[in-house]
Amino acid sequence: MSEENSNDPSGFDRLRRAAEHVPGAEAALARLAMPLEMRALRLALDRDDGTRTYLPAWRCRYDDALGPTKGGLRFHQGLDAATVERLAFEMTVKCAVMDLPYGGAKGGVRVDPKALSAAERRRLAAAYARAFADTIGPERDVPAPDVGTDAGVMGVIADAYAGATGRHAPGVVTGKPLAAGGIAGREEATGRGAFCLVQQLSQALGLSSVCRVAVQGFGNAGMHMAELLAGTGRRMVAVSDSSATLVCEDGLDLGPVAAAKREGQSLADLDGLGGGRVRDRDAILSLDCDLLVPAALGGAITGANAGGVGARVILELANGPVTGEADTILAERGITVVPDVLANAGGVTVSHFESLQNRQGEAWPEERVRERLSEAMGRCGAAVAELARDCGLTLREAAYVRALERLAAAVAARGC
Ligand code: NAD
Repeated sequence: MSEENSNDPSGFDRLRRAAEHVPGAEAALARLAMPLEMRALRLALDRDDGTRTYLPAWRCRYDDALGPTKGGLRFHQGLDAATVERLAFEMTVKCAVMDLPYGGAKGGVRVDPKALSAAERRRLAAAYARAFADTIGPERDVPAPDVGTDAGVMGVIADAYAGATGRHAPGVVTGKPLAAGGIAGREEATGRGAFCLVQQLSQALGLSSVCRVAVQGFGNAGMHMAELLAGTGRRMVAVSDSSATLVCEDGLDLGPVAAAKREGQSLADLDGLGGGRVRDRDAILSLDCDLLVPAALGGAITGANAGGVGARVILELANGPVTGEADTILAERGITVVPDVLANAGGVTVSHFESLQNRQGEAWPEERVRERLSEAMGRCGAAVAELARDCGLTLREAAYVRALERLAAAVAARGC
């Protein structure tokens, strides 16, 4: 699977189409046709063997009409400027859909994170923070973990930023370790947010409390969501990872499967565990079920395989797992898609709580984080569903309309 879908409508095309439902959005559209700031820099990384490698690095602040820009920092060998810009645009839409006081951003380094030692990763994170110290900042642009980065990388960035600017500013990043000002519940936030959304929209989506669910990508986001769904009686008929699908028509016993995955095992080696049988990796896509959750990478469901999808509802927990071509085929087949800009927004929502916590010098209890997350996902999910119903739109179209309404109002209020 690739995160690149070159034949897809761009996010901006979707926003332009949304403008048909948002009177007076011309000024916002004109502004959002290009990013506010796109910086490309060369980073020098001193390797453990004494050699020096040069790596391309980017940070794109797409738009700040709604507040300081916010978005992940990615270390990935396939990263390029166009991907960074596209993801920064999508963050702009996501923050707007979720009523968050942020604009969108994204950044990263083209590097294979698996080829770095722990010390090299730390040096690279510090080099990034020093190089982009004028771009990022608590009131300007706030990175968070993404593919290939984690809480440890965020801790290093906060430290290097403090060194470069002479200011203690934990709010320069979110997704930090707890001891460095991080928030309880950040790791589960994306999966839990999607779970809250399913709870909120179950009636509208026709998903009963015993519906059959399949989760493609049993990693951080997918595993948390699967465990929460199973805990409320939904039947987990399959989970998959990059090695295989594990299937049980009667519902997997998820506990031992999750424990084995957390120990680093692959599903291909778990035949029989939790009542599951091993099938090939992509078998999960055509299984008969009520809800399919693609939670691996972008481009999982394409024009080539959308015709064989066996689910009635798809919830995009990954970024961009359904291509534009697939979207059309799924709509024709009456399959509902809950779009990524809403479905996986639990992570950035809890990042916002982390920023609030840092500004107030507080440490929120996990229960408070969960309650506020549930409220936010429920409220914004209901608003998107209502808009879709009232205007005869898909949930994706409705999410873009809601985002454009907020962005257009903010642009107008600033007199732009
Ligand atoms: P992760 O690396 O923890 O998990 C990804 C899982 O997908 C792994 O189990 C991997 O084996 C599996 N996988 C990879 N290729 C696969 C394939 N071809 N078929 C089936 N499974 C495959 O990553 P994550 O943090 O859970 O993120 C997953 C997706 O969710 C990404 O698209 C990410 O951008 C998106 N997302 C994550 C967060 C977050 O907070 N974690 C927030 C927003 C969006």
